[in-house]
Amino acid sequence: MAEKKKEKSIKAYSKKPQCPKCGPGHSLAEHAAPKRRHCGKCGYTEML
Ligand SMILES: [Zn+2]
Repeated sequence: MAEKKKEKSIKAYSKKPQCPKCGPGHSLAEHAAPKRRHCGKCGYTEML
């Protein structure tokens, strides 16, 4: 029995945090000092 192992090529994309208000597609930009994530669209800010 020939067992074929299909290797799924998982794209190693950088998992960016998404804006909970705007939904997927709108990633949050990370800022330092103080460390926070900010959505440039709706202005949502997440403190880290
Ligand atoms: Zn947003």
